[in-house]
Amino acid sequence: MKNIVLYAPPAAGKGTQCEMLKADYGYEVISIGQVLRNQRSNDTEIGRKIIETQDKGILTPDDIVIKALKNELVKYEGKPIVIEGFPRNIDQAKLLDTIFDNYQVIILDIPRQIAMKRTLGRVNCDKCGKIYNIYFEESKPKVDNICDKCGATLTSRSDDNENSFNQRFDVYEENAPKIIEYYQNKGILNIVDSSLDKSEVSNSIKNIIE
Ligand SMILES: [Zn+2]
Repeated sequence: MKNIVLYAPPAAGKGTQCEMLKADYGYEVISIGQVLRNQRSNDTEIGRKIIETQDKGILTPDDIVIKALKNELVKYEGKPIVIEGFPRNIDQAKLLDTIFDNYQVIILDIPRQIAMKRTLGRVNCDKCGKIYNIYFEESKPKVDNICDKCGATLTSRSDDNENSFNQRFDVYEENAPKIIEYYQNKGILNIVDSSLDKSEVSNSIKNIIE
């Protein structure tokens, strides 16, 4: 099975699809945030540089990120890997090629308006855990603000507001064209319509893998 780079804007359903890849195919999911946290706790030159940059509130330089990722990949040798949340820009995409191979790229494509509704409309029941979305007919509670299942009052789950959502989506849109072009030229690009139902998105991904 080929390794995967899963690239997507915010609220495209990356988490759900990573879970599917793990459960159905035994993929190891590597997120770059987790890589940096793991390497940060090591008393190594890379660990110290990560701490130094993160504590100053600046982005960890690409070459350090790639070295950290390389260290983590060693742990999973021989297993199929999904890298998610990376690359964030074209320079990282090129660097990734120096340490990672035999992979294909899957992009979860979703219009901004739908991604935003998914993020901002989310409400959940603290009592039974059921999740709703007030912007979609099929996932709205029957009575406003009340859980269908247990009758408890619903609370908003999103820590995002429209501004911060748009900022995150802007970053994606700024970097995506170059990254997409790069992978298209390499002939390893697959684009999946992620505005569809979760199970349909999963099926599209399965068709690519199998
Ligand atoms: Zn409930």
